[in-house]
Amino acid sequence: MEEITIQTRRQTEMIDITAAVQDAVKRAAVQRGVCTVFVPHTTAGVTINENADPAVVRDILMEIEKIVPMRDGYAHAEGNSAAHIKSSLFGSSASVIVEQGRLRLGTWQSLFFCEFDGPRTRKVWVQVTGER
Ligand code: ZN
Repeated sequence: MEEITIQTRRQTEMIDITAAVQDAVKRAAVQRGVCTVFVPHTTAGVTINENADPAVVRDILMEIEKIVPMRDGYAHAEGNSAAHIKSSLFGSSASVIVEQGRLRLGTWQSLFFCEFDGPRTRKVWVQVTGER
């Protein structure tokens, strides 16, 4: 298992972590298998989506903000309920097939770390299992 550290800069943002995860796959030396990316935080998540047009990420964040507003009479005293809800909507893990030692993502796909309560120092756990 490898741990990637991410310093987020904004309250809400999506950071492309594909290269860092690919590096972890390379170090694991697995040729064929599965890479699991896990975010051990309750106010962040991980998702796979388009990397080509940055407007896609902007639109995702704009719409998720409408679905889960920052303030909406939430009960949770810490004041970050919206971030907890977004974390559950996006999910804590992603699995990607590994082939020939590389992440088998679609042409326009990237793995994104999703910050919903930043800026913070975050961790991502990566585990690669399979044949060497
Ligand atoms: Zn909280």
